[in-house]
Amino acid sequence: MNAGKYIKNIFVGIYRLCQGMYITMLNFCRPKITEQYPENRGKKIYGERFRGLLTMPHDSENHHKCIACGICMNNCPNGTIKVITRMEKDETTGRDRKVLDRYIYNLGSCIFCGLCTRSCPQQAIEWSNNFEHSVFDPGKLIKQLNREGSSLAPKKTE
Ligand code: SF4
Ligand code: SF4
Repeated sequence: MNAGKYIKNIFVGIYRLCQGMYITMLNFCRPKITEQYPENRGKKIYGERFRGLLTMPHDSENHHKCIACGICMNNCPNGTIKVITRMEKDETTGRDRKVLDRYIYNLGSCIFCGLCTRSCPQQAIEWSNNFEHSVFDPGKLIKQLNREGSSLAPKKTE
């Protein structure tokens, strides 16, 4: 290596070092964005599409929108959902119809792919933001999403 090239490399090295230090100082002076979890639990804002826990919303009369079609269960890639049905007499038609008995969801095996919510024709299931699911007993990760005594919301008559 000749002397000229050697000196040039020294200056290039110093320039690169200054570039690195500039970025370091820039970040040093920026406001800190460390999340103080769990202290900030009440103030945290989550993205609308955040998938924390699958839920089945119920209205004030304990009605849900699930028609027990089983599409979500069939689309789930790893058997996380079990739609257990029973037959019930329809009061208006007098015929037997299939209704939801228990909607079982295993949080422990869910990969949060969202295929279930996307394929539900009724929008009967949705995601909540809750992500705090630590338990000592894995059995507690298996949840029943429909509430006790709940039933399908009656069709609205205009
Ligand atoms: S998010 Fe995916 S893995 Fe989880 S229950 Fe729905 S379909 Fe199954
Ligand atoms: S949650 Fe939706 S897709 Fe799943 S059984 Fe109920 S209505 Fe069908």
